[in-house]
Amino acid sequence: MNRFDYVRAASVADAVQAFAPDSRYLAGGTNLIDLMKENVERPGRVIDINQLPLGAIEELAEGGLRLGALVSNADTAYDERIERRYPLLSSAILAGASPQLRNAATNGGNPNQRTRCYYFYDTATPCNKRAPGSGCGAISGVNRIHAILGASDQCIATHPSDMCVALAALDADVRVAGPQGERVISFADYHRLPGDEPWRDNNLQPGELVTGIDLPAEGFAEHYSYLKLRDRLSYAFALVSVAAALRFEDGRIAEARIALGGVAHKPWRKPEAEGLLVGQEPSHGAFLAAADILLAGAVGQGENDFKIPLARKAIVRALRQAADATPQSQIDKRVA
Ligand SMILES: Cc1cc2nc3c(=O)[nH]c(=O)nc-3n(C[C@H](O)[C@H](O)[C@H](O)COP(=O)(O)OP(=O)(O)OC[C@H]3O[C@@H](n4cnc5c(N)ncnc54)[C@H](O)[C@@H]3O)c2cc1C
Ligand code: SF4
Repeated sequence: MNRFDYVRAASVADAVQAFAPDSRYLAGGTNLIDLMKENVERPGRVIDINQLPLGAIEELAEGGLRLGALVSNADTAYDERIERRYPLLSSAILAGASPQLRNAATNGGNPNQRTRCYYFYDTATPCNKRAPGSGCGAISGVNRIHAILGASDQCIATHPSDMCVALAALDADVRVAGPQGERVISFADYHRLPGDEPWRDNNLQPGELVTGIDLPAEGFAEHYSYLKLRDRLSYAFALVSVAAALRFEDGRIAEARIALGGVAHKPWRKPEAEGLLVGQEPSHGAFLAAADILLAGAVGQGENDFKIPLARKAIVRALRQAADATPQSQIDKRVA
């Protein structure tokens, strides 16, 4: 373990003011501390934000909910309002990690967790995300878990979160406070594709702190499914996941949302795929056509070629489950 300063912030303003270029905010610590132990993250200052007043879920005037950044993933998933109004989000959170981790992990920490690319964690191997300019061990290496969409020739990592896939489908907004004041980032613009700056996971500016996540009033509570496919039922990140949400009027799809996890550096959405479903009755053909749009341009890296047909089937399955109001169960986790 390397030496670092430890600061316990008493207010959001304190936390932001204490931030130096080599600082990291500490929330649940379930990712940051692991990365520090592995020497992947070597912050000069750790700013503990656990005393900040960001631990509540509040009603918004427009009908949505604001999730405080320090509310645990477990308290979010089991909040009665989330279960009733945003079951897609509850389901996605419960698909991730373990009960113990979800008790510690926070709503601000989850979107900022870093990729699970093996090479990123192994400081003996090249990795442009960990050590800019060093190369990428995953390209032509072991890349079973890597991206099929939106990758660059510098990085083919995926974002590992389940929660974020649902937040993307729900059109959530991320509220941040930073040296320049407060701002709101739509979830679609929060994470980045790797491009030629693979070390940047998201569009936060230095020192910006996530204070909360706003959910819009529409929660797609009747027709939704979070389908997660993984190598084993417990403790596994998604190989492919799909957040599907539909709203019906007179038997036809009036609104559709589809976001994919495990396939790209960010939750993957294509508004054209969603638009194609609007006005249609639910059908295998329509769902396949939407899947084809979502996966247009998908490229395998060798070991992960299987993800392309797998994702196609998963999208169709999740949309069918959403349409039939038979969402994937996160209790037995098996794919129905
Ligand atoms: C064994 C294991 C299995 C897991 N499986 C899954 C899974 O299946 N699905 C899944 O989604 N996740 C999974 N996770 C990841 C877990 O969900 C994350 O570690 C957790 O959500 C991170 O939250 P945290 O509060 O502990 O963040 P921390 O570890 O405290 O922080 C993570 C990062 O976010 C930054 N940060 C924290 N809070 C803020 C804030 N408010 N504003 C700005 N930056 C902030 C930190 O500086 C750090 O860079 C797993 C983790 C483990 C260890
Ligand atoms: S895929 Fe990205 S995170 Fe993984 S080794 Fe390559 S550059 Fe690093």
